[in-house]
Amino acid sequence: MKNKYKTLRLILGDQLNLQHSWYQHQDASVLYLMMEVRSETDYVWHHIQKACAFFAAMENFSEALNANGNNTLYLKLDDPSNKQSFEANCDTLIKKYGIEKFEYQLPDEYRLDENLKAYCSQLSISSQAYDTEHFYTEREELGTFFSGKKGLLMENFYREMRKKHQVLMAGKEPVGGKWNFDEENRSKLPKSHKPHAPLLLHNNVRAQYERITKAEIKTIGTINPDHFYWPLNHKQAVELLNYFTEYCLPLFGTFQDAMHTDEWSIYHSRLSFAMNSKMLCPKEVVGAAIAAWEQNKKGIAINQLEGFLRQIIGWREYMRGIYWLKMPEFETMNCFDHQRKLPDWYWTGKTKMNCLKHSIGQSLEHAYAHHIQRLMITGNFALLAGINPDDVDFWYLGIYIDAIQWVEVTNTRGMSQYADGGITGSKPYTGSANYIHKQSNYCENCHYDRTKKTEDNACPFNSLYWDFHDRHREKLSLNFRLSMVYRLWDKMAASDREAILLRANYCLEHLEEL
Ligand SMILES: Cc1cc2nc3c(=O)[nH]c(=O)nc-3n(C[C@H](O)[C@H](O)[C@H](O)COP(=O)(O)OP(=O)(O)OC[C@H]3O[C@@H](n4cnc5c(N)ncnc54)[C@H](O)[C@@H]3O)c2cc1C
Ligand code: SF4
Repeated sequence: MKNKYKTLRLILGDQLNLQHSWYQHQDASVLYLMMEVRSETDYVWHHIQKACAFFAAMENFSEALNANGNNTLYLKLDDPSNKQSFEANCDTLIKKYGIEKFEYQLPDEYRLDENLKAYCSQLSISSQAYDTEHFYTEREELGTFFSGKKGLLMENFYREMRKKHQVLMAGKEPVGGKWNFDEENRSKLPKSHKPHAPLLLHNNVRAQYERITKAEIKTIGTINPDHFYWPLNHKQAVELLNYFTEYCLPLFGTFQDAMHTDEWSIYHSRLSFAMNSKMLCPKEVVGAAIAAWEQNKKGIAINQLEGFLRQIIGWREYMRGIYWLKMPEFETMNCFDHQRKLPDWYWTGKTKMNCLKHSIGQSLEHAYAHHIQRLMITGNFALLAGINPDDVDFWYLGIYIDAIQWVEVTNTRGMSQYADGGITGSKPYTGSANYIHKQSNYCENCHYDRTKKTEDNACPFNSLYWDFHDRHREKLSLNFRLSMVYRLWDKMAASDREAILLRANYCLEHLEEL
């Protein structure tokens, strides 16, 4: 057995990139190692669909590697030899096979990056880390780009990415003559409009489901393991991508911010899990979207395409760059010193507020909510109510199928909770019932009245919105993007302001009952 393998290569659960150069030629002296371990299942309460999706996609990946002539060992959760941590399992195999070299791909999570660096530093054999060959940018690239510049504006980074990678460029100018078409992308779903149904793939994850439940891992949400619809390999990810470019991209931008009680993904791509697990490469996604537009310029207007590409080469790469620039401080930031506990109904959806009931309910049902539901419903409420960002992170990191810390914490603590004090956004994303009504039909059947601010049945968002801005006046009133908000607030009669703050105070003291 000894010396059968010379090199041990560790593959993490979110490193399922079959196109990686590691796999382009086979080497009998290399042992690939993949594992399901408690250290990864237990650090947060994962949605059961997320846990099953990762395990099933990992298993598929190891089978694909073996089918291509590689040697891959896949340690299941219930394998008696599984020591339940990366380090302990690697130690066992290094000893067992007399391994001479340990190799891994750079993790995208700070926690794992530190752990693996520490692990390698105490090994008596040599070790090497490789790039994951997935992102457009290197870890430090955003920091280098902004070095010496004022601020970290996403828009500047995005334009640089477009130029550098020649995405949708006509020489030095953006195709369509504009960098940003956001103003055309804010429509509500008209009553008569029915979006294409989301593509639901056919998978069975019963084996993974039973392993997880038998091990009594604490999970959240619901699942039908015999009809599992998320992509679990590259082929299925491409199927979802093709469906998106054909049926969703033509209206992606227009209804990007729309929400509706009967629809859970509208025209969104639902590609985040496939990309974050690296089954699907962002370059493949960008290439497919541009190819679809080139073939069908009449059917796909430029604002739809630009709106989508901005998410991939803009926001996604930007958030990753911010993560590596600002961690580990980022995960503890709490600019407003918010300390309130997350209401229990975030875990059940049992609230009378229809927008939250619906957004949380669909998150528990599908392990998915689209960006505006995450930002302007669940995130907005947590921010206005002054919830501790640690609680907010814990919820977002568990509930979504695509949640991995590099992209979760930057969106949650940064963009959504402004706990970073304005690193990722130039102002907090807040809105009252006006905004929610403008973008959705949630208010139509709500227990609360969206037009009221102070009465017993007044929408809680309305008073909490003003209370938040009043409470944080010192930090926010000098922000020129908020000058209008403070002007409106100051113009109100003192008695009106008092009544609003009274109602907000009631809501804050009775959060669990709202
Ligand atoms: C509070 C909060 C938490 C979030 N947590 C996560 C998370 O854990 N994981 C995650 O992948 N995204 C997260 N996002 C970003 C975004 O909401 C999701 O990427 C998106 O909803 C995934 O659905 P989709 O694939 O249908 O996206 P689409 O709307 O179809 O967008 C296409 C792709 O663009 C990328 N993208 C879009 N917006 C962002 C963004 N703000 N940051 C980074 N990438 C983006 C994603 O890869 C997405 O798949 C979060 C946003 C908020 C406001
Ligand atoms: S009235 Fe208020 S709580 Fe109800 S759905 Fe509208 S915004 Fe949400």
